[in-house]
Amino acid sequence: VKESGKNDCLLYSESWSNSSLERLTLQHEMYRAIQRSEFILHYQPQYDLDSCRMVGVEALVRWNHPLKGIIFPGSFIPLAEESGMIVQIGDWVLEEACRQNKAWQDAGLPPIPVSVNLSIRQFVQNDLATKVSAVLDKTGLDAKYLDLEITESMTMDVGHVSRCILALTELGVGISVDDFGTGYSSFHYLKNFPIDRLKIDRSFVRDIQQDPSDAEIVAAIIAMAHNLNIQVIAEGVETEGQMEFLRKHNCDEMQGYYWSPPVSSDNIEQLLSPSHI
Ligand code: C2E
Ligand code: CA
Ligand code: CA
Ligand code: CA
Repeated sequence: VKESGKNDCLLYSESWSNSSLERLTLQHEMYRAIQRSEFILHYQPQYDLDSCRMVGVEALVRWNHPLKGIIFPGSFIPLAEESGMIVQIGDWVLEEACRQNKAWQDAGLPPIPVSVNLSIRQFVQNDLATKVSAVLDKTGLDAKYLDLEITESMTMDVGHVSRCILALTELGVGISVDDFGTGYSSFHYLKNFPIDRLKIDRSFVRDIQQDPSDAEIVAAIIAMAHNLNIQVIAEGVETEGQMEFLRKHNCDEMQGYYWSPPVSSDNIEQLLSPSHI
């Protein structure tokens, strides 16, 4: 279901981008979708490579469209970014992920952090740390169980983003750099921002066993991050061989289809419950 759904959405997205009318329609629908609670979150487990325990989850948004069915973020996040609506969607995602994580804890499940993707647009607002703090208060989630994933953007104001990140770390939330290695200034993040964790992009993980330079790059990223006291998680792990490579090179955590795709909150609840472990 998942894969075919994804392909359908890619086709939609191509035709949407060809027609400004359709883009406008989608934008309008996206606005209503917030009011109508059409967005849902799925969660992908993150595993510790030593213990093979689930040590976190990443919240990933989906749009449950009344006519088109499940739409994956690749088909609407770009338009949401362009139109600025990513800020409202992002606010919803943040609050929902915190609410859900607190609900798991209240149900007696072992506490784990939830990772939330932030758009650089959400950094442009001056009050991001205030907003995050208000959401933590409202949902009752302890800051240490929230991790924020940021990706680099060429248009960002480094000084502003760095002050934002500092304010966020002062709240006690974790900061991860997403898609590490794909941008132009990944190293700026390490140098300028107090980050806790980096996520090795899946484009490096994919050919780790076939391509010697990818293998070298991944091994070097892990070693460098550890020297800087930064944790490393590998994304897009699909095979046992990739996992063994990562384990051998002391990568801390992994996320990928090999263990689990993103799943519903009910499924996470089952994975977390003692009877499953
Ligand atoms: P991302 O943050 O890099 O998230 C990981 C994506 O890789 C997810 O796609 C996930 O389903 C997919 N994935 C996980 N494991 C594997 C694997 O083993 N193999 C392969 N081929 N793929 C894997 P998804 O859910 O379609 O999300 C796509 C992107 O949309 C995310 O990439 C993220 O950039 C963005 N996104 C998702 N949710 C949000 C959100 O709430 N806010 C913002 N701003 N962006 C979001
Ligand atoms: Ca992410
Ligand atoms: Ca990523
Ligand atoms: Ca380890």
